[in-house]
Amino acid sequence: IKGFFDKRFACYDDSIRKKMIMEQNIIDTMREALEREDFQVYLQPKVEIGNGRLMGAEALVRWQHPQLGMVSPGDFIPVFEKNGFIYALDQFVWRKACEIMGRWKSEKGAFIPVSVNVSRADIYHVDLPGVLMKMVEENGLEPGNLHLEITESAYVSDSRQLLPVIERLKELGFIIEMDDFGNGYSSLNTLSELPIDVLKIDLEFLRMRKNVMRRKQIMRFVINLANELRLQVIAEGAETEEQIELLREMGCEYAQGYYYGRPMPQDDFQDYLSKQTIS
Ligand code: C2E
Ligand code: CA
Ligand code: CA
Ligand code: CA
Repeated sequence: IKGFFDKRFACYDDSIRKKMIMEQNIIDTMREALEREDFQVYLQPKVEIGNGRLMGAEALVRWQHPQLGMVSPGDFIPVFEKNGFIYALDQFVWRKACEIMGRWKSEKGAFIPVSVNVSRADIYHVDLPGVLMKMVEENGLEPGNLHLEITESAYVSDSRQLLPVIERLKELGFIIEMDDFGNGYSSLNTLSELPIDVLKIDLEFLRMRKNVMRRKQIMRFVINLANELRLQVIAEGAETEEQIELLREMGCEYAQGYYYGRPMPQDDFQDYLSKQTIS
């Protein structure tokens, strides 16, 4: 039977096996990794396009794995969303983000809000608002200092379950950012139903080769719509001067991307922060 399969199939088969081994390794080592703090929180700047001022930062998790090296969130987040470990990891990241802001506040230096990612799987936990509130209070912060990025796909699949949770978080004073806007398919519906504060649009949308003109028009429309709804718009993945120019021309006020700075370890971000003027 073996000789029956061609080389391509064998290769395909091999990459699946590799992926499965990696997944298993990830699952076997995740708990000790969390205890040993092999997970690290990087920060990426969010900038006001008009004046180049820093207006916030996004906390992004990194995993320095002893055998696998630097593992990308794209490889382990989906695994943790499936097996439920994401809630433990996210709480670790949220706590770190609050501790960082707590330090800024007590040092009375520059202060900016930090956004954290809230996975769709986290929403199911009934204690979520309480957990977040406690972290904020323990670090001498206001809920409005912590921005919660919730990916659009979460709204699409469970919007009935999600609405009361978002409303509760809003009531408590947290700022809600809709992440990856435009990737789902009932965006307009969710936009009208959910009390969100910020819209994050991924420039990946413009990088696709097909229908570039049309994509630009849609992007312009979305930015106008968000401006009319008094939502803040943050474009994500801005890498070039041309993209910043285009965003400015389209009326988009804020951007995050390699053009302004990559996600960086806390020490590097601290240096970056101390050289900035804060808006
Ligand atoms: P995301 O929330 O959409 O985060 C933005 C991603 O775009 C990050 O990838 C960031 O490094 C990358 N990025 C930023 N600027 C640029 C740019 O100019 N060009 C390009 N090509 N990419 C840029 P990262 O850090 O690999 O994270 C991937 C995804 O993993 C995130 O997408 C988010 O969905 C998830 N993730 C990351 N950290 C966490 C976390 O702590 N908790 C949860 N639940 N998910 C996380
Ligand atoms: Ca995000
Ligand atoms: Ca995003
Ligand atoms: Ca993304």
